[in-house]
Amino acid sequence: MVIKPKVRGFICTNAHPTGCAASVKEQITYVHQQGDITNKPKNVLVIGCSTGYGLASRITSAFGAGAKTLGICFEKEPTEKRTGTAGWYNTAAFHKEAENADLYAKSINGDAFSHEIKEQTVKIIKQDLGKIDLVVYSLASPRRTDPDTGVSYMSTLKPVGDPIVSKTFNTSKKEVHEISLESASQEEINNTIKVMGGEDWELWIQVLSEAGVLADNCITTSYTYIGKELTQPIYGYATIGKAKEDLDRASAALKQDYSSIGLKAYVTSLKAVVTQSSSAIPVMPLYISLMYQVMKDDGVHEGVIEQIYGLFDQLLLADNPPLDEGKRLRMDGVETNDDIQGKIKAIWPKVTTENFPVLGDYKGYNEDFLKLFGFGFDGVDYDAEVSPLAAW
Ligand code: NAD
Repeated sequence: MVIKPKVRGFICTNAHPTGCAASVKEQITYVHQQGDITNKPKNVLVIGCSTGYGLASRITSAFGAGAKTLGICFEKEPTEKRTGTAGWYNTAAFHKEAENADLYAKSINGDAFSHEIKEQTVKIIKQDLGKIDLVVYSLASPRRTDPDTGVSYMSTLKPVGDPIVSKTFNTSKKEVHEISLESASQEEINNTIKVMGGEDWELWIQVLSEAGVLADNCITTSYTYIGKELTQPIYGYATIGKAKEDLDRASAALKQDYSSIGLKAYVTSLKAVVTQSSSAIPVMPLYISLMYQVMKDDGVHEGVIEQIYGLFDQLLLADNPPLDEGKRLRMDGVETNDDIQGKIKAIWPKVTTENFPVLGDYKGYNEDFLKLFGFGFDGVDYDAEVSPLAAW
């Protein structure tokens, strides 16, 4: 079939296998250009390995450290008539590249929140790897079913406290306009914490520890976004921010509970980038477009692979990395510094639908968005027939 992007609101409902392979290759090339990272993990488990920050973590582990990687993701397999999801194709491409480089790679496709997938993971680690020395927790999901009770919870993206009015960019209508967001109820806050907070990260570490597959001095990280004034009403101080605060609680608990094996558990704050998850958050497409413009103008723009390579090379695997006041690792220092934020804040009130293409980098935002699904890569013939089938 010939595959062209089918964009519906903030999601693209199909993906291009050759384009996704080009995307994976581009990240691998970046890592090769930087050279090996300093402290190399040997066996890495990436939970949420198929797109965004998790995929970049897997690529950096494998191609920057020569690590064996086991990945967990939740992706849709293609059929003869329907393309798979981008994460499916990314994973297929990653496996192919790993095989060519003689690197061990296995992936499990299923619900990481379930007991079943955790058990499968332990089985493969025992069989193939022995022990894991780095666990990256990079799930982003709108829902979670509690594996003990079977109750499903939905996360919400709403302010906490007072309702807010903010500027946003509607990616379907291509309009800058104001939106009003009602504040979350306590139940919505609790549910968001249940989905995106630290409970499942703790369950993973518990299962891995009980199975005896965590190496001494194992490192684990989950990822957060902290942001500043412009995003705090809808992120940092909102329902998702409450869930992220729960990651801070979980990292402290993990360090204490597994001190006997010297577990290092970090929450890492990363910069805002275009991913399938961030494009679903109100206000973020506008903020990211303006931030991209400012950071590109200043020559300090970074995407997922630059952030993760930097994290792995400088902070995550170091003996005593610098931590912020919340004991987190920070890779978002350039985005959140006063100079960059000041420039974004100066543009923010002036942005209208008409001047948005000039004041903001919507072109860059949109190109990055389409690239998430494998569209827009040089060297890929998007008019050519391509089989949607790809296996791993
Ligand atoms: P993403 O949507 O690109 O990736 C999510 C991953 O989770 C995919 O691999 C997907 O398959 C997997 N997944 C989702 N539900 C699953 C399930 N039930 N079982 C197994 N796998 C499942 O998201 P992302 O933006 O890379 O986010 C990853 C983490 O980084 C999140 O914690 C997010 O909050 C954080 N973060 C993101 C940004 C940003 O701007 N995108 C910034 C800072 C921090």
